[in-house]
Amino acid sequence: MIPLTAYQVFARFSVEVEIGKIEKIRNEPICTAMQAPERLACKAVLEQSTPRASILHAMTELSRRDFAKLVTAAGIGANLPIAAQNVNRTIAIQVGAVSFVDEGIAPVLDRFQKDAKINTLLIATFSYGRGIAGRQVGGQPLPDHGKQEYDTNFYGGNFARTHEQYYAHTSLKNIQAPDHPGFDVLESVLPEAKSRGMKTFCWYEDVFRSDLDGIERLQEVTLSGKKANTLCFHNPEVQAFWQALTEDYVRSYPVDGIMWGSERQGPFGNAIGASHGGSGRDPLLVTCFCEFCKQEAKSRGIDTVRAMEGYRKLAALVQQTRAGSRPPDGSLVSYWRLLVDYPEILNWEKLWNDGQKLAYQNIYKIAKSIRPTLPVGWHIWHNNSFSPFYRAEQDYSEFRKYSDFLKVVMYNNCGGPRLASYIKSVSRTVFADFSPEEVLAMTYKIQNFTEASLQDLPRKGLSANYVERETRRALASAGEVNIWPGIDIDIPTGAEEKKTQPDDVREAVRAAIRAGAQGVVLSRKYSEMRLANLRAAGDA
Ligand SMILES: [Zn+2]
Repeated sequence: MIPLTAYQVFARFSVEVEIGKIEKIRNEPICTAMQAPERLACKAVLEQSTPRASILHAMTELSRRDFAKLVTAAGIGANLPIAAQNVNRTIAIQVGAVSFVDEGIAPVLDRFQKDAKINTLLIATFSYGRGIAGRQVGGQPLPDHGKQEYDTNFYGGNFARTHEQYYAHTSLKNIQAPDHPGFDVLESVLPEAKSRGMKTFCWYEDVFRSDLDGIERLQEVTLSGKKANTLCFHNPEVQAFWQALTEDYVRSYPVDGIMWGSERQGPFGNAIGASHGGSGRDPLLVTCFCEFCKQEAKSRGIDTVRAMEGYRKLAALVQQTRAGSRPPDGSLVSYWRLLVDYPEILNWEKLWNDGQKLAYQNIYKIAKSIRPTLPVGWHIWHNNSFSPFYRAEQDYSEFRKYSDFLKVVMYNNCGGPRLASYIKSVSRTVFADFSPEEVLAMTYKIQNFTEASLQDLPRKGLSANYVERETRRALASAGEVNIWPGIDIDIPTGAEEKKTQPDDVREAVRAAIRAGAQGVVLSRKYSEMRLANLRAAGDA
């Protein structure tokens, strides 16, 4: 779209006035009728506009929203401070309990408000993973705040109090995180956040450890018949667990919203290694082939024996192409032929996806049944930017049925090394007919962004332009669902790989806003962010 000029914005605006959309006409310049941030935006536009005298008299008490819409449509607000473009935007940060324990609640919230204009906390209330909970991971430099030592004894679990009455239908109930005894992160932080006008969301994710009481009953089963560390969405106890945890949060605490995430994909995507880190995946360990999944398959008329046979053949083909042996008809033809011969492979992929979708729906349903106005949204895994197979399965128009917002991961710095990792993996399986550079060129075409060469990608990362394009793409299919791009601040990368700089953060936040995002989520966790980079989000 060609950006409109400032004059065109005002011309459009005055037409809106004339056609009676705005009833109350006042003979005063519009800027004075506005709140401070919009007034700044208004003045900036006026300064750029030349023949304004003739339209100024028609200006009215234009609603903030209408004005913001016009400015956004014209792309004129792009160079203004975010605060000047929209005061209602969500500026969220992901933060774990350990940061409040280490640094104190008031000092952390002070810093969030002053340094980065944060108005929403996404508190990591449940995870057994180090990605969103705990301090900086080992092997990475500690940031310039917080306790200067690694929490090598991190355990994880529920960082709020666990209220037993909600967990009647699942054997997974002994989930209290032992990391900070007596500290309930929601009970402790919520009142202080509320008194400052900050919102508090629960942020919980699908990451478990295998030594938990009662977990075996809930675990997935691999193609080779082993128990996996992941939980099966077709197991009723797993669905009951997520419902219980959600009910516990929404009933026990006056939270302002919830966000859940599941960084997992189905057996087809995993078998062909279609993700960053995918080359290390054993295609015989794909999931799930437990009794619940077999039962679900039966009810859909899918032949389990054929599906498992298809997945074993797929595993053999993956092993062959990874070893560098080209099938006589080439790689793509051989993979495609297998899908035609064994449609059960994709049937099982859909079966797995439907289980995950059921978790989204159940969480949404129970949260809304308790508090119909509570915002409910999801973290969308980074693989969405890399694998077209995974992206095809993340249909935002489908998400509209059970989402208020989507935090779509657009981590641009670590996105470089991660995209390179994805390319290296799939260029040895389904796309083995092509060189890795060719697979990258094709991926850029498919995903509609263009960045560095494969050689430079890990060191350069992805640009703010990637963030802008991904934001626009998400907004185009999300309808009424708000899009809050996930912004990368110091997400760990390898020694020679891209490290976040203040400019990267500033430009990424600006790009998201320029594209029309209704918010941003500073990620992954405060305890790994350097302060200069956090402040850069505030500068944007
Ligand atoms: Zn299963």
